[in-house]
Amino acid sequence: MKQRKIPMRMCVGCREMKPKKELIRVVRGKEGEISLDPRGKAPGRGAYVCFHGDCLKKAEKTRALERALEHPIAPEIYAQLAKEMEGYVPDPKPEGED
Ligand SMILES: [Zn+2]
Repeated sequence: MKQRKIPMRMCVGCREMKPKKELIRVVRGKEGEISLDPRGKAPGRGAYVCFHGDCLKKAEKTRALERALEHPIAPEIYAQLAKEMEGYVPDPKPEGED
């Protein structure tokens, strides 16, 4: 089997480079709405974070997520993202890389 290059992205929480699959994308849409983008395909400016609450919290504290998305994020948005993240189960199926 040919080995595929694993796309790496940086988590805005722990600032570590990780395979894209181990991160979840947070996207800012056209209207400035912030949401999780588990498929990684939504249009808009995106940032990646590990999908456990710790890194999201860190990114909130350091404002790294706001900087990455170039948009202010209200505490309730972080709460909503954290909630969505809790219910998120990574898709074990291999996905098409971009
Ligand atoms: Zn992280």
